[in-house]
Amino acid sequence: MPRALVLASLIGLCGCASASGAPRAQPADLKVGGGAIDVAIGDGHLDLSRAELLAWISGSAEAVTAYFGRFPVPRYRIVIEPVAGRTGVLSGTTWAFGGAHSRLLVGEHTHVADLERDWVMTHEMVHTAFPDQPPAHHWIEEGIATYVEPLARSWIGHYPPGKVWTDLVRGVPNGLPRAGDRGLDHTHTWGRTYWGGALFCLLADIQIRERTGGRRGLVDALRGILAAGGNDQVDCPLTRALREGDKAIGVPVLEELYHAMKDAPVATDLDALWRDLGIDMRHGALAVDEQAPKAAIRRAISARAAAHTQ
Ligand SMILES: [Zn+2]
Repeated sequence: MPRALVLASLIGLCGCASASGAPRAQPADLKVGGGAIDVAIGDGHLDLSRAELLAWISGSAEAVTAYFGRFPVPRYRIVIEPVAGRTGVLSGTTWAFGGAHSRLLVGEHTHVADLERDWVMTHEMVHTAFPDQPPAHHWIEEGIATYVEPLARSWIGHYPPGKVWTDLVRGVPNGLPRAGDRGLDHTHTWGRTYWGGALFCLLADIQIRERTGGRRGLVDALRGILAAGGNDQVDCPLTRALREGDKAIGVPVLEELYHAMKDAPVATDLDALWRDLGIDMRHGALAVDEQAPKAAIRRAISARAAAHTQ
């Protein structure tokens, strides 16, 4: 067994074999939050310089580091594939197998202003912060990425905090169960996977803060999973990862919510949820009510968590 696998088995929360290869010896292109990031650019023309691409990647890595307290994996590889004639960051995919790595398609005529608006890089990096799951549980992977990405960017000033909430108000209705829904583990639509997963995260975040008197949030549960070795290089059943998260916050919110939502279409009264948080979008723009019963929870979710809250 290679040394990296032995180490992963020793420190991994599941004691399962890691899928990662041994770390490569050559120096990384970037070092952020304790993670070494290698960047390769595929064939084709880009208006952007390599330095501009590295600055974008570095900013995304800083956002992810702000949220998780460190970069989720020790070594991460990015391949940028130029796409002729196009503009903007077009898509991204992340794989755990063969070492954490992502491939991003970037239009030839993309400029720095496009990168400043981009969310894809941060989203892909967030995927490295949770154990790789089988298809039945992809909703938790996409849900965490969808929920954490804008928060992480807002915490380092790369996204307006108010927009985090307006995006949730607009997006989360896509995650509600529709006719024929059989719960998150069995309903693999786009809406339930991305926004159903994000709704799970939002509900968890609120409940954790309620049940711990504001001392803990979802961020602490996710950092706890990571601290126990649960990044995407580890094979770990979802129930075990959630138990590890609950252990870090001292209340079984993740496990209870998962058991409620995995096999059943749980209804959520979103109007009441937003009202309680003090979010009003009725006139098209965000208006906040600081006297709302859960306004303090909304503020706590928006506020950057301290680097070490474990
Ligand atoms: Zn994703």
